[in-house]
Amino acid sequence: MLQVAINGYGTIGKRVADAVRAQPDMEVCGVAKTRPNFEAERAIAEGYPLYAAIEERADRFAEAGLEIAGPVETLVEAADVVVDATPSGVGAENASMYEALGTPAIYQGGEDADVADVSFNARANFEEAVGADSVRVVSCNTTGLSRLIAPLSESYGVEKVRATLVRRGGDPGQSSRGPINDILPDPVALPSHHGPDVNTIFPELAIDTLGVKVPATLMHLHSVNVTLEGRVEATEVRELLAAEDRLFLIPERAAVDGAGKLKEFALDAGRPRGDLWENCVWAESISTTGRDLYLFQAIHQESDVVPENVDAIRAIAGTEDADESVETTDRCLGVGF
Ligand code: NAD
Repeated sequence: MLQVAINGYGTIGKRVADAVRAQPDMEVCGVAKTRPNFEAERAIAEGYPLYAAIEERADRFAEAGLEIAGPVETLVEAADVVVDATPSGVGAENASMYEALGTPAIYQGGEDADVADVSFNARANFEEAVGADSVRVVSCNTTGLSRLIAPLSESYGVEKVRATLVRRGGDPGQSSRGPINDILPDPVALPSHHGPDVNTIFPELAIDTLGVKVPATLMHLHSVNVTLEGRVEATEVRELLAAEDRLFLIPERAAVDGAGKLKEFALDAGRPRGDLWENCVWAESISTTGRDLYLFQAIHQESDVVPENVDAIRAIAGTEDADESVETTDRCLGVGF
């Protein structure tokens, strides 16, 4: 049984913890937090041993009536793999601790690519992470683009990707984020950082990305144009994408007109926290003119990287190959509608 530590128990960390717990070959040996709050209380209620991420603040947990199992170093030392799900930039600060304790680490997409040996997407480059000491699971948007590009590239060849990323201003719990009433080109100058980030997975790919930020919290929406190496019918692309484990083709009959209905759909389906682990591609948006493919996809920023973290754990441990790991992860989580 792989022992997995989670350092940083917020939006991503708590979801990764629950996903790890659902797997037959790994368990959560503990989670680390900086301060007591409702998430710390939930961690204890879920039965996850709680560790103090910052030793000087450990007393605050006792004052709040929360039992602490020890400092984060004790947790990391006992683990086979640590998943760092701390805010952007903090993972890089933690790297020296993981290295000193000899525990392989998984970082999130908010970190720069050079934080880890490999940037990771299970569909695209699982094998590169096998046995690595450090892996960075790429961001929610890069994960969404990589899952789409991999099958297109393998089946048809990709000449160029152009994507406009309409991004949520913040997660539902991020009350300080915005815009509240604006539409922001972000960044104004091209390219947005997403294209270069996709190149950490597909180094040779020609890709330009544009970013826009809008007053929404639910999901991101990608408007994608891929110039393929040959002419392909839209029906063929639909069949190709429908066969992908982590792409959900929203059928026209579902009458899902946007991210709000998608979240409602996930909640009705009984998804934990209303999570959508899959890229949600509108089936009827998949169209081709000559060699150009167009589509819209929605990406649930809080959860699409969660199965990828589980696969990254197996890649580091070298216990299953890509197909086996993705199959196990998806079956145990319930990925796919
Ligand atoms: P979050 O703020 O929701 O959670 C981070 C948690 O880490 C919080 O509980 C915070 O208190 C805790 N923390 C802060 N400093 C810490 C420290 N020194 N040690 C341990 N814990 C500490 O953030 P998040 O949204 O879960 O993001 C985590 C990482 O995942 C970032 O790199 C982010 O870019 C990436 N990511 C986020 C999203 C998203 O949409 N939320 C999507 C994909 C990737």
